[in-house]
This record gives sequence, C-alpha cells and structure tokens, in this order.
Amino acid sequence: MSEEKSKVDMEKIVSLCKRRGFIFPSSEIYGGLSSCWDYGPLGVELKRNVRNAWWRAVVQERDDVVGIDASILMHPQAWVASGHVEGFSDPLVECKNCHLRWRADQLSGDKCAECGGELTEPKMFNLMFKTFMGPVEDDANIVYLRPETAQGIFVNFENVRSAMRKKLPFGIAQIGKSFRNEITTGNFIFRTREFEQMEIEYFVKPGTDDEWFDYWVKERFNWYLNLGIKKEVLRLRQHGKEELAHYAKDCYDIEYLFPMGWSELEGVANRGDFDLTQHAKHSGKGLDYFDEETNERYVPYVIEPSAGVDRSVLAFLVDAYDEDVAEGETRVVLRLHRDLAPIKVAVLPLSRNEKLVPLAREVYTEVRRHFMAQYDDAQSIGRRYRRQDEAGTPFCVTIDFQSLEDKQVTIRERDGMAQIRLPLKDMVATLQAKLRGETFATQPTWSAKAVGA
Ligand code: ATP
Repeated sequence: MSEEKSKVDMEKIVSLCKRRGFIFPSSEIYGGLSSCWDYGPLGVELKRNVRNAWWRAVVQERDDVVGIDASILMHPQAWVASGHVEGFSDPLVECKNCHLRWRADQLSGDKCAECGGELTEPKMFNLMFKTFMGPVEDDANIVYLRPETAQGIFVNFENVRSAMRKKLPFGIAQIGKSFRNEITTGNFIFRTREFEQMEIEYFVKPGTDDEWFDYWVKERFNWYLNLGIKKEVLRLRQHGKEELAHYAKDCYDIEYLFPMGWSELEGVANRGDFDLTQHAKHSGKGLDYFDEETNERYVPYVIEPSAGVDRSVLAFLVDAYDEDVAEGETRVVLRLHRDLAPIKVAVLPLSRNEKLVPLAREVYTEVRRHFMAQYDDAQSIGRRYRRQDEAGTPFCVTIDFQSLEDKQVTIRERDGMAQIRLPLKDMVATLQAKLRGETFATQPTWSAKAVGA
C-alpha cells in the first residue's frame, strides 16, 4: 500500500451501504462479528450483478471457458497436494501485555503497535479453517473450509476435459465462497475471513503460456474499465522475484486506489504445471494431456486470474460514489454502471393521490416484467429522486396527472438528471435501449420502432 489514497472516505461508503441497505455488520444486534458482513437487499443485487458480469465475460461470451461449482469441503489430501496444509501460513506474534496478535511481517518495529508491549517469537499460523466431518472430532476426520476456489477446479480438470471434450487451450471458471482465518482483517469488505472469489484456471500448452499470461492480464484489466472503473485509479503491479511463489513464473496484481491506498483487486499468475503435477502425484491419477495434433503428452501450464467478488463490489462502490449539487443541495449519487446497478428502474407516482395509483401500479407491473424495479411513493418526489440516486438507480419513471390524460410518462436519468417525456407504449423499449448503453444526449427522440420494439 502507498500513501496515495482515494478521494472517497471509507466512512461515507460504509454509512451509505448501511443507510440504503447494501451491507450491514453481521449479527449486528449481538454487537457484530469481527470482519463479517451481511449483504442487504441492494447489496445482494449488486453482488449478483458483479458475478453475472464476470460470468458473462469469461464463460457465456467465450467458447474456450466453461464453468463449474465445486464443493467447499474437499478431500483433505487436496490441501496437502496444493501446499496449503504445510505452507499456507503467516508469521504471527502476540503481545505479552494486551494479547493482541499481529502479523510479524507487517509490523514496523519489534513492539506491540497497540500498547508498545513486548512481543512473543513469531509462530507460523495456518490460515485454513478446520472442522470435522461426521460425529467424531479427531484428527482422522479433519476437513478444511476451502481457502480458495482454485483447487476445486484442478481436481476436476480431467472430469471437465473429458465430459466437455475440450482441447487446449481451455479454461474452467468458478465463483464461490472461500474462508481464511486472516490475522489482520479490516477496511470494510476488503479483507474478511469469509469472502467470495471468481477464479479461472486457463490450461495451455507449455511454451504458449507467456502469451496467454499477457492476454489474460489485459483481458481482466479491461473488464474493470468496461464496467466503468476510472483508468486513473486502476493499475498493474508486477510481482518482484522475492514476492513470487516458488512455482509461479510471473504474477501481476490488478490494483485499485481504495480509500486506504493502492491495494490488490485481482491477481493474475502463471502457475506453470505446479498444481496438476501435485494433484497427479498425491492422487495417483494421471492429469497429463494428450495433444492429438502433435502426438505429445504433457502436463498443461495454467494461467490463473483470481478476483474477489467482495473486493470488486467495494471498488465499484468507491468508484461510483460522487457528490454534486442538485436544486441547491448536495446530492449523493452512485454512478454505478448500468449492468451493476441493483435497481434498474424506479417507478414513482407524483403523489399518493388515488387517481394516480392505478396507472402507476400498472406501469410498475409492466416495468418489473423486464427489469429489477422498485415502486416508491413515500415522501416528496425530490426526496425519492435523491434516494434512488444514492442507490445508483439509473432511471426513474414518473407518472403525473397529465399521464392520465395523454398516456405519457417522464423518464429521468440519474447521472445528468435529464428528463424526457414519451408515450407509455414506448417506455419499455426505450428503457431497454438505454440499459444497453445508449444515451439521452445522442438520441433524445427515439421512437419505439427505432429501438427495435
Ligand atoms: P491479500 O494479500 O490482499 O490478502 P492475496 O494475495 O492473499 O490477497 P489471493 O490469494 O491472490 O489473495 O486471492 C485472490 C483474490 O481473492 C484477491 O485478489 C482478492 O480479491 C480475494 N481475496 C483474497 N483474500 C481475501 C480476503 N481475506 N477477503 C476478501 N477478498 C479476498
């Protein structure tokens, strides 16, 4: 991390997330549970949209990547093979005075950073959560909560290859929960003990790995830009030799300028043939590949783009957060990319007047058939716009008294607060076009026909 920081305060993000129902502290009525967070009604939509955007980019729109959903609990030998039982640990020191624990490699001096107390000698602390399978709690029944989703992919390499008749190069993608008993957590959902990952293992012929590595670094970097992350707050950082895992040939972190400074959002690594070789050795099952074109047999190399769902959610929230002035007041607005916005369209009757309600409900019924939508009739229209701006809702549809006469509604756009009035019959097609990325400014008077209705 560096001294440079995002202009956005983490407190503002945490408070907005609570206020608008994105993210709450876990078990809050019991005082919360350290580093655990619950996604609320808007957060769950945002998170789902992040996952969907990733899945769409890496699975749906590609011929060479397929998805899986492996179990969280795996055969304990898998974690011996991967090196996690032996090596997945951090050096830990404990303050003899206040008993706080610290990562020895993250402390600047040799005293407790909290109270200045004396510290114990460093002890290696394994980051995997352990539990027991079945009723007997002994060593023979230990299983681990997976600390990464990657190993569920490696152990399924041959299953997927043969079932899907895949030829190299091809990838397997997975999204799922991972668990690490991190010593230092914090910065909201940036580092937690339970989190979600989006990982691809992309298998290639040895010798083509450098090329594919470059390809995936660029591909993944652009994914964030395409979803609206600003270029000046996203960067690549290559790992130095001392930082690389012993088996890794190369690794780049995609870093984002978070409120606490530049930090890892995603890692892209060239892992060589380490993982498949290890699993072949420990399982006794061959995991090599027969190349029909060259009549060769070899263990594929793997390129691994490994991203965090929660970290991406945080980056998208920080990046989208903005304050401007509307009607003489400060307006908080989340300029989320339309694909990520939790609610796409809010339907707002001008008031609760009983004459307006039937048409407003009718419009809402129609809108929600197509989009994640919300109906809001509480408080003044200005306040409701502000609420939707804070929630990142790209479009509001307003029904007023004139709508009853002319069957027209107003669509109001979040970012520039521009409004257009259009016939009700064109509303859905227009919203669909806008949610595909066309803007008010370029084509203010589309007809339903022009947008393909
Ligand atoms: P860090 O050093 O920041 O803890 P890492 O290098 O250990 O991360 P990886 O093992 O490369 O992380 O995991 C891949 C991705 O999974 C990370 O880039 C991050 O987005 C996510 N991730 C890893 N650990 C956590 C965590 N404790 N909380 C939230 N996300 C995490």
